[in-house]
Amino acid sequence: MALIVQKYGGTSVANIERVRNVAARIIKTKNEGNKVVVVVSAMAGETDRLISLAKEITDKPNERELDMLISTGEQVSVALLAIMLNSMGYPALSYVAHQIKIITDDKFGRARIREIESERILEELDKDKIVIVAGFQGIDSQNNITTLGRGGSDTSAVAIAAALKADICEIYTDVEGVFTTDPNIYSKARKLDKISYEEMLEMASLGAKVLQIRSVEFAKKYGVLIHVRSSFSDKPGTIVCEEEISMEKVVVSGVTYTKNDARIAINKLPDKPGVAAKIFDAIAKKGIIVDMIIQTSSMDTGYANLAFTVSKADLNKTLELTKQVAKKLGAKEVTYDENIAKISMVGVGMRSHSGVASKMFSTLAKEGINIQMISTSEIKISCIIDAKYTELAIRSLHDAFELEKG
Ligand code: ADP
Ligand code: ASP
Ligand code: MG
Repeated sequence: MALIVQKYGGTSVANIERVRNVAARIIKTKNEGNKVVVVVSAMAGETDRLISLAKEITDKPNERELDMLISTGEQVSVALLAIMLNSMGYPALSYVAHQIKIITDDKFGRARIREIESERILEELDKDKIVIVAGFQGIDSQNNITTLGRGGSDTSAVAIAAALKADICEIYTDVEGVFTTDPNIYSKARKLDKISYEEMLEMASLGAKVLQIRSVEFAKKYGVLIHVRSSFSDKPGTIVCEEEISMEKVVVSGVTYTKNDARIAINKLPDKPGVAAKIFDAIAKKGIIVDMIIQTSSMDTGYANLAFTVSKADLNKTLELTKQVAKKLGAKEVTYDENIAKISMVGVGMRSHSGVASKMFSTLAKEGINIQMISTSEIKISCIIDAKYTELAIRSLHDAFELEKG
């Protein structure tokens, strides 16, 4: 007998027919002699619908009230699933965060889980019940409802699996696993049988939204085995686990993209010590995270050009700050560009192989795609390009590195 946590995403519970399909899967797992805890997302499109209702009132809804609103999507789906399972003859109980006590910090909209009380879940499992928990939500120390950021049900599931010391956390979604690139962008994408926590962490933070980043961090920290698979087929999916020696033989595991960043450029900035510090200090003080930075300076003119990226959500705030500081420093102008994409190649094998960067650059060059910025780490290389070339870049890199072959 195993303790299995299963998470079903929005498309998997998009309508009653699909809720029935999910219930059948849960029953199958239960009948195989396992204890099952289920984490469910809101029905597809529901979270977006709730957010847009609030946005009809104001651009900046009160954060506490917005969490109160958008957490309701999950309450609907857990209850529907419990009603379904009970009607099929399998006793099930649904819970929202305050009933279980999923305790988070008080950062509305991006709360982090601190603690989960496992007693109540374990008691009901011992009574042979199926336990269904609302994903995406928690409560802070004052009992306010919080949410974990978009895609946060993955994190709820992995955190619950860690708290219960479950044997496995199965993430059921609308694709058959983790692929070499987003299968909805390139049909030649190949499903990976296994991927290390570290690579998955990079892929998730560089755009592969199949798992929320925080869920992978949790899994890595607590050693939770994740199986990402489709709720529409019985095929095995992708296991996310500790790195294995065989994984290092694969140089590149995947190509990802994100269009979440914006680039800010400061032109003709006097080139003297302390200038960069003044700009980035001001930005850091507001808690804004800068991703890539590039500076070019010309010896003869005494000016430098500085460019950096921040998330689009932080663009306006950062732009305002940068303009203030740049003016004080005597820079010529501050410009920005939102039409950029970050394309990244990820693989633990890069640690011991050279040549990935040059092959990436020459592949993009052959397609006439200009690289605006570059950043590297031990297991990834990212390039900023014009967003309109995203798909072309993904396809040509996927082909050049022969990722469909594996
Ligand atoms: P769910 O609603 O089940 O949580 P999501 O939409 O959050 O599902 O995540 C699944 C989606 O992630 C897929 O439909 C796919 O378009 C996207 N995706 C992006 N990159 C990848 C990748 N490398 N492998 C698999 N899916 C990916
Ligand atoms: N319903 C939430 C969202 O749409 C959480 C999730 O689906 O994981 O972001
Ligand atoms: Mg998701």
